[in-house]
Amino acid sequence: MTEIRDSSNISVQDQTATVRGWVQDIRNMGGISFLTLRDRHGTLQVTMPKKKIDPELFGLLTKLPRETVVSITGDVKESNQTALGLELIPTSAEVYSEAGVPLPMGVIDKVNVEMDTRLNHRFMDVRKPEVKAIFELKSIMVELIEEAVRGLDFTQVYTPKISAAGAEGGAELFQVQYFDRPAYLAQSPQLYKQILMSTGLDRVFEIGPAFRAEHSNTNRHVTEFISFDGEMSWISDEEEVMRTIECIIDHVLKGMKEKGAAQLAILGKEITVPARPYPILTYSECLKMVNDNGLPLKEGDDLGTEGEKIVGDIMKEKGIDLYFIAEYPEEAKPFYIMEKDGTPYSFSFDLDYRGQEISSGGQREHRYDKLVARMEKKGLDPEDFGFYLDAFRYGMSPHGGWGIGIERLLVKMLDLPNIREAILFPRDPSRLSP
Ligand code: ATP
Ligand code: MG
Repeated sequence: MTEIRDSSNISVQDQTATVRGWVQDIRNMGGISFLTLRDRHGTLQVTMPKKKIDPELFGLLTKLPRETVVSITGDVKESNQTALGLELIPTSAEVYSEAGVPLPMGVIDKVNVEMDTRLNHRFMDVRKPEVKAIFELKSIMVELIEEAVRGLDFTQVYTPKISAAGAEGGAELFQVQYFDRPAYLAQSPQLYKQILMSTGLDRVFEIGPAFRAEHSNTNRHVTEFISFDGEMSWISDEEEVMRTIECIIDHVLKGMKEKGAAQLAILGKEITVPARPYPILTYSECLKMVNDNGLPLKEGDDLGTEGEKIVGDIMKEKGIDLYFIAEYPEEAKPFYIMEKDGTPYSFSFDLDYRGQEISSGGQREHRYDKLVARMEKKGLDPEDFGFYLDAFRYGMSPHGGWGIGIERLLVKMLDLPNIREAILFPRDPSRLSP
């Protein structure tokens, strides 16, 4: 009986097997030809000694264009020439889909292909094991995030992605036509996850898309990313939120090493798990570090890409990859962040990973009057936020939370050069297809 196998579970005990996949390469060496068949798990050598194979089958298999999708049935033989220790000697084959020639880009050629070309033909690009591995790791990462956060008793929620108003108002919103009126794509679940803190669902998380109409052409900004948001009640300070994120990230890093070992090996990457607790720097300390290193930022300025990098380099020298930066000036933070009364600062923080922000969070202002005052201070009209403010009028718990860009987390974990490497079909100001 011929069993259906793949490159991960075929063995010489099979005697005969059927394997399906893509024809990665064919080498014709005169009396013998070799076909490399690639599937999800790896590659398998199909060996064709001309004299031992049906001439028609030999003719078919040796002339297939690269990347054609086939099913090949044959005898499984031991071989000390192949990585799997076996080879398949074909007895029959079926062509499911013949690949066109030439290919839009190579799968195994070692030439450097521009990122744009790769993204234009992403279906082809992902056939490369080292590209596919990134998306398998992303899936494992999300599984680990969910595992960690459920373990901490968070409830998974889904909030709307089409809305009448944005989280912070302002310019970063994509407008869409909603029947006869304008609507906006959600830039974050901020307002909704906070509303939920008034319901008794006192720990919630969401993993979903966030949209930012930012004209930033950088290696860490896209217009659509996946945000992992959490919001938790009954906190007494923002450090509780920081320690919660830390616990989640620690679980993820440890789990990735274990569950993602095969993919990490393909990428030649190692994940380091930092010691806990992660250090908490303050904005003011960071500002000093940055100034001491010749970047003339003033009190209140955003640390920016350059500032974050300087802090990252200093932390790296100390062997620290992940650290919080807390107590940003309230002016630099959105209206929903709680002010540190009597100071220009706020109960906010970022989590930075090797010199780059991957998360922002903080304790929220849950007191109605102070919240309204903060909105007004930021030039927002509280009337526009009625649905949000209502939740604060009739009993709101003290709470805080975070948003983590999961692609930023993955990029830093794997030390990838560009956020687009971690998104199958990225969206940015110049890319809307595929
Ligand atoms: P940055 O200053 O790096 O542009 P931000 O402070 O504007 O980020 P937040 O509004 O704090 O971003 O969003 C929370 C998290 O969402 C960020 O820490 C980041 O991980 C992620 N994120 C924000 N904007 C983007 C984007 N354009 N592309 C990818 N991820 C993003
Ligand atoms: Mg931020």
